[in-house]
Amino acid sequence: MTHERRSLAGRSAIVTGSTSGIGLGIARALAAAGSNVMLNGFGDKGEIASLCAEIRSSHAVAVTISGADIASPAEVREMVAQATREFGAVDILVNNAGIQHTAPVEEFPEDKWDAILAINLSSNFHAIKAVLPQMRARNFGRIVNVASTHALVASVNKAAYVAAKHGVVGLTKVVALETATTNVTCNAICPGFVLTPLVQKQIDDRAAAARITTAQARVELLSEKQPSHEFATPEQIGALAMFLCTGDAAQIRGATLTVDGGWTAQ
Ligand code: NAD
Repeated sequence: MTHERRSLAGRSAIVTGSTSGIGLGIARALAAAGSNVMLNGFGDKGEIASLCAEIRSSHAVAVTISGADIASPAEVREMVAQATREFGAVDILVNNAGIQHTAPVEEFPEDKWDAILAINLSSNFHAIKAVLPQMRARNFGRIVNVASTHALVASVNKAAYVAAKHGVVGLTKVVALETATTNVTCNAICPGFVLTPLVQKQIDDRAAAARITTAQARVELLSEKQPSHEFATPEQIGALAMFLCTGDAAQIRGATLTVDGGWTAQ
């Protein structure tokens, strides 16, 4: 039980893509700070229901789930409407859901390009547009977009992902400026490698292509990019997202905050 630091007591949050990985880490951190949380994402219905129950009972907050496919603008709008109905308000929006596909640009499948742009970038716009009027009306809001080091620098074979994540930083800055005189803030967190299913797939692909073990592939992946040679964790990203939702973070606006083991310091 974590009831000692309830700096977000009475708040309500949507965290997209929170049935796994970084989003789940963020949802847990917000709930631990006292915020109600709407989870969103795909997965086994029974497992997601147990996850909701576990977070609810550990932190004594309301936890609900939206199965919205955030590639659909209409489903994004319905997700915001559902959270508003169930919680009475949405104070915190964390745009976290994202997918990856790697291929050289000449071979990059067009449907993968469209899906990555829709899920990793356009969904952020649709969710922000849907939630901002009520945040302005109450003069409180925290919008946290989970971007990436790939919002700041590039890597080969990630054209759609890098383009979408650079777009997220642009969107973050515009929303931060448009809300600058209000108590609504908008920031981007830029993680380096975090060991989640999204990165595990890249490790597995690399191991298969180079005929090395997954343990070797993991070391190679990290040592190429991340000077600390250690993964960042969902808990660390969650702690930063939680801080950005507090009053102490009120003047952090339009920022890109890296949690990348030194990746972008190079
Ligand atoms: P993950 O694959 O573990 O989780 C992705 C989540 O998004 C899951 O809950 C999944 O169900 C959900 N999701 C996927 N498509 C969706 C859709 N169309 N509609 C609704 N939900 C959908 O991934 P992760 O590594 O935790 O990544 C989370 C975010 O962090 C992504 O935006 C990713 O780009 C970013 N990121 C990850 C890393 C990393 O190293 N893992 C690094 C930098 C940035």
